[in-house]
Amino acid sequence: MSLADITDRLRAAERAAGRPEGSVRLIAVSKIQPLERVEAVLEEGHRLFGENRVQEAAGKWPDFRDRFEGIELHLIGPLQTNKARQAFDLFDAIHSVDRPKLAKTIARLAQEEGRCPDLFIQVNTGEEEQKAGVLPGDADAFIAECRGMDLPVRGLMCIPPVEEEPTLHFALLKKIAERNGLEGLSMGMSGDFEKAVMQGATHVRVGSAIFGARDYG
Ligand SMILES: *Cc1c(COP(=O)(O)O)cnc(C)c1O
Repeated sequence: MSLADITDRLRAAERAAGRPEGSVRLIAVSKIQPLERVEAVLEEGHRLFGENRVQEAAGKWPDFRDRFEGIELHLIGPLQTNKARQAFDLFDAIHSVDRPKLAKTIARLAQEEGRCPDLFIQVNTGEEEQKAGVLPGDADAFIAECRGMDLPVRGLMCIPPVEEEPTLHFALLKKIAERNGLEGLSMGMSGDFEKAVMQGATHVRVGSAIFGARDYG
């Protein structure tokens, strides 16, 4: 696989879903990947990337940003409140807002800095014990709470349980978004992004299918 293959598949999925070409944004998830693979994708012209750790992102993206114009970086992994300021400085969007304490910290930083990354609220659609995200039953109240703090909530994000049919989870996320008047849907990864597009994803997060398998060595 490669960036060109995945882009082709994404455009085909948009067509199959009857959606306008280019309506789904491809977040190339570069976590753990060797710098030369990331650089190759930058050289191909791609500019939207996702990372799941603040520290790791801080180690590579300032340099890439010096060398390539127009990079947009999204945080897709869990965020500790003590890393929120650093995340604020590094990321254009945060997809993992999932609890009041974090929302309050972000609101305070937004006040201080007079700007805020785009925010997505993570929903634990599978209600998995070990997984981050607000429970589906608490989502409406949490979305309202974030809006009450004037946070720029753009949409919702989910990571379906590995052994389950993702379509049901994507459909649930869309339902929660619709009833709350939210447009953004960050859902779909290497193994299921076409299904996510069928269910209305606006952002797909694709790592290994673009860059190759991650070597956690
Ligand atoms: C790693 C990661 C991805 C990308 O996973 P792939 O299966 O490599 O496409 C997507 N979303 C999140 C939240 C991730 O942590």
